[in-house]
Amino acid sequence: MDHEVECPRCGAWVVCFIDPRGGERQELEEPCPECGELIRLVAVEEEPGGFAVGVVPPDA
Ligand SMILES: [Zn+2]
Repeated sequence: MDHEVECPRCGAWVVCFIDPRGGERQELEEPCPECGELIRLVAVEEEPGGFAVGVVPPDA
């Protein structure tokens, strides 16, 4: 499933892909097409097929 997140550096919207069968907790890295920032994401499956996606702050 595609999910849009906001780049923490420049605010651009970045589409990332979350594998519905990838497990209940997935960590992803997606480069921002605008500024090149490597955005770290954590996707947690809250219900079957329903993921809550959070952006990990760059300095965390
Ligand atoms: Zn960016």
